[in-house]
Amino acid sequence: MYYIDSKQMHTTEIPPEVKIYFPFPSVRAGQDIAINSIYKALKEERHIVIAAPNGFGKTVTVLSAVLPLIKDSDEDLRIIYLCRTHVESQHVIAELTKIIKHLRNSGFSTNLGGISLRGRNSMCFHPQVLDQDPMTAQLLCRELRNLERCSYETNLKKNPGALKNLLDKLTSHAVDASELLEICRNWGFCPYQVSKLVLNRMNIIVCNYQWLFSPYIRDYFLESLDTTLDHVILIIDEAHNAPEVATELASDQLTYFAVQQLIKEAESLDIPPVVDFGEHLLTTMDELKDKITDEMPISPQLTCRKVFQNFEMPAFSEQLIKLGENWQKMQLNQGKNPRSFLFSVGTFWMNWFQKMNSKGYFFCASKYSTRGGAESVKLEIVSLDPKEILAPLLSKVYSSIHFSGTIEPIHYYTDIIGLPESTIELSLPSPFPKENVLAVNLKGISTQGEKRNAETYKKYIKYCREAVEAIPKNVGIFTASFEVLDGLSKNGISNELKSTGKELFFEQKDMSSNENERMIAKFKSCTQGKGGILLGVCGGRNAEGEDFPGDLMNGAIICGVPFAKPTPRIKALIDYYGGSQKGKDYAYNMPAFRRANQAAGRPIRTVTDRAVIVLLDYRFTLPNYRKFLSAWFREQIIMLSDEPGALTAAIRKFWK
Ligand code: SF4
Repeated sequence: MYYIDSKQMHTTEIPPEVKIYFPFPSVRAGQDIAINSIYKALKEERHIVIAAPNGFGKTVTVLSAVLPLIKDSDEDLRIIYLCRTHVESQHVIAELTKIIKHLRNSGFSTNLGGISLRGRNSMCFHPQVLDQDPMTAQLLCRELRNLERCSYETNLKKNPGALKNLLDKLTSHAVDASELLEICRNWGFCPYQVSKLVLNRMNIIVCNYQWLFSPYIRDYFLESLDTTLDHVILIIDEAHNAPEVATELASDQLTYFAVQQLIKEAESLDIPPVVDFGEHLLTTMDELKDKITDEMPISPQLTCRKVFQNFEMPAFSEQLIKLGENWQKMQLNQGKNPRSFLFSVGTFWMNWFQKMNSKGYFFCASKYSTRGGAESVKLEIVSLDPKEILAPLLSKVYSSIHFSGTIEPIHYYTDIIGLPESTIELSLPSPFPKENVLAVNLKGISTQGEKRNAETYKKYIKYCREAVEAIPKNVGIFTASFEVLDGLSKNGISNELKSTGKELFFEQKDMSSNENERMIAKFKSCTQGKGGILLGVCGGRNAEGEDFPGDLMNGAIICGVPFAKPTPRIKALIDYYGGSQKGKDYAYNMPAFRRANQAAGRPIRTVTDRAVIVLLDYRFTLPNYRKFLSAWFREQIIMLSDEPGALTAAIRKFWK
């Protein structure tokens, strides 16, 4: 690996052929280093991983460095920019629009074009397909098109002239999926089909990780793009998510409910052996349910033998899959939902069978709560190694650029996803002025297992109150887990915080997205009055997915290190990496500190933001852990003792 610490680098001149793409009059600290490093990496067909805090201007930086190569190369290179959310995709399209405009205003002719994509189920107007799961949406759409029963698709054929004009209009522009939906609605065209038709005219495609990570979607997607992986420059935004997305994609699960539905399908088709199989499987799952508390490792070979004691494997699973496909066709012919449990259960056991001798998987039975709140059981195939999905992809692309604000130590990331030795690792400076952040760590306090008692929670509540009173306007409090939140709650945190005069907002485990959105809007509006307090959990949606610049959050208090429960799957992951410190860091320490870093970063989103970060757990700064904290506040943490008023004094001094 080639590690570059930007503190040791001097500002370098950006070559003029690259600089013309940068749409602002001047670059921020570190942007020049990033642009030159990316440009160099791409020219040498190498991978590059960059740690850059939020507010750095990473999107415009990476686009400015990559686009000149697209123009200069004879290889018809494409950029595939992977994001997690629609908001992030919109941001990429907005920055690309700025660059295209800037080039045209500067007198350069350019035919650069880009588009952001969403899945079929959110780029479809047909009421029967909308909001279906991806596989059902695909089946329904194919059938509707075969039967010419989707007017949005037939309109494309009826109006070839209008379609051509639309495709020409979209080319050489940066088009967001929401804009395409709007245009297509006006024309009565299918947005999904139009996006497919325009894809091979675009240089930059912005989409979700799944489009390339899923081996099933990947081939089809590349075919629509009329390209191959060796012509793809891959950009992964918020790359710290990539390992988890990859392992989730390679994992699978079978719920008790799915087996009950399998039996119903088999009964309606009158296939007694499948009904017998389903009932035997339910009995096995019931037996497991009686033995487990939360999660229990099981032998994949023994379980397979037990479940299939009267059936031949893999022939029986193949048969289930075939029966499921027939069921899907039958349902479609009757205009019904084609979802098949014969198909999904058959696919699950084929997966189990194919993976049961692989060391990269962990097999378990676990309990879960149904929507109705009842306790149920499921079988799980848990992927332990993101390399299985990522290595075949990363070894074939022309080059890849990985960006994140919470990816340090970088070499852990490059190692876990299997990037080659030649990969460049770059750590960029924080754009935030040091004096804008006060980071404090309290000695003598922890949410460590044995310390979770009323005395500890009361101490936490006292510190939270002190900080909330001293921080002006809005404050976020993020706990290590719902268990800690519950402990604080039982020990009276609500009344204590309400007595500060600020309005309290409590994140609930089962809140719907809409309820949460409404709550966040109200919390944000509290800046008009005395301020609000948002009480949530590290790793929760408000600690990771929301931005709170300016007074929307002037401080983040992190109560405890958000380590995951040491479940059997975490232990399996540690063992998979050799049971060493490295395994513990990958499986246990890094994810915990990433959650804490994400929560701590909520109030600092732009270079003008000021905020206090209060780390309420002495373990945050222990020598083994400190390296996992984000560099932008790690270097300036002040240690405070348990003296009364010390926290208040430090915060008041900062806000003076
Ligand atoms: S053709 Fe388009 S609008 Fe029609 S069902 Fe398929 S995705 Fe939906």
